[in-house]
Amino acid sequence: MKAAVLHAAKDLRIEGAADPSPGAGEVLVRVRAAGLCGTDFRIWSGDRPVRYPLIMGHEFIGEVAAVGAGVANVKPGDTVAVEPNYSCGSCALCREGNRNLCLSRTAVGIDVDGGFAELALIPARCCWPAPPGLSPEQLLLSEPLAVVVRAVSRSAVRTGETAAVVGAGTLGLLATQVLRSRGARVLVVSRSDRRLSLARALGAEAVQSLAAGPGAEAARRFSGREGVDVVVETAGTPEAVEEAVDLARPGGRIVLTGLPHEPSRVHFFWVVRRELTIVGSMIYQDEFPEAMRLLRDGAVNAEALVTHRFGLDRIQEAFAAQRAPASIKVAVIP
Ligand SMILES: [Zn+2]
Ligand SMILES: [Zn+2]
Repeated sequence: MKAAVLHAAKDLRIEGAADPSPGAGEVLVRVRAAGLCGTDFRIWSGDRPVRYPLIMGHEFIGEVAAVGAGVANVKPGDTVAVEPNYSCGSCALCREGNRNLCLSRTAVGIDVDGGFAELALIPARCCWPAPPGLSPEQLLLSEPLAVVVRAVSRSAVRTGETAAVVGAGTLGLLATQVLRSRGARVLVVSRSDRRLSLARALGAEAVQSLAAGPGAEAARRFSGREGVDVVVETAGTPEAVEEAVDLARPGGRIVLTGLPHEPSRVHFFWVVRRELTIVGSMIYQDEFPEAMRLLRDGAVNAEALVTHRFGLDRIQEAFAAQRAPASIKVAVIP
């Protein structure tokens, strides 16, 4: 098989490798599409240390090529979305049902080889059979969509409530649609106005570029009161977390699902004064089926988010495109 192998920071080579064969409990997936995200870029650039050589790629989908002994949930020929994280299954967190929080979690494409290849070997429990009729590009968004489904669930948003989404990248544009499907009215707040017309097309009732004015004022105007009921933060920057606190009304709920790598200067005075509830939301537990259902029902338009496609041989260009302001989701099609 052909694979993109990372040998050191920024040293990514297309190589031939022996086809892996599935052992007990494993599934060999023929990769049909793999998405790039900020995590891949941080690994590629060396910001995030990994062991080399590594085949990156954690957002991918494909077709089951072969299964090992004891695999019952999928069979050859099935189309599957891959859940690229698996927990140890035996620690206290796993046993109490918090497998997304397991400290011995294995991330496919980060800790072990992933989907920037023609074939990928993964545990059977990471395979979610896809409903019929979804295109590879729709299905490709099930991983980030599962992240968002969990975040929105943790907000406990109710029909008729107002919600603000911070960030208009893949997660923000998906969150907008999931919040809409739960009956919320959505304001999207973003650093620039680049994707705000797309946010509107995907269901945002109002949008605010922070370059044009403060988010808090827009949130008051939009909600007709002190701020919005619910904020979903997807940008993962220290400033975006501060922004989230500004947007919420007293008694509001904030869900953080972007991962800020630097400390944030949140004024906790306002968290107390407004009695805000702030919760984190870490990847997903069992949100893949719900994500795929939303795609199947057309509640979420995923295809509008795939802006670039490259063959595996052109993966270097895919990394360049991932950094370009015009890109949302960049796909590698092996
Ligand atoms: Zn990712
Ligand atoms: Zn565990």
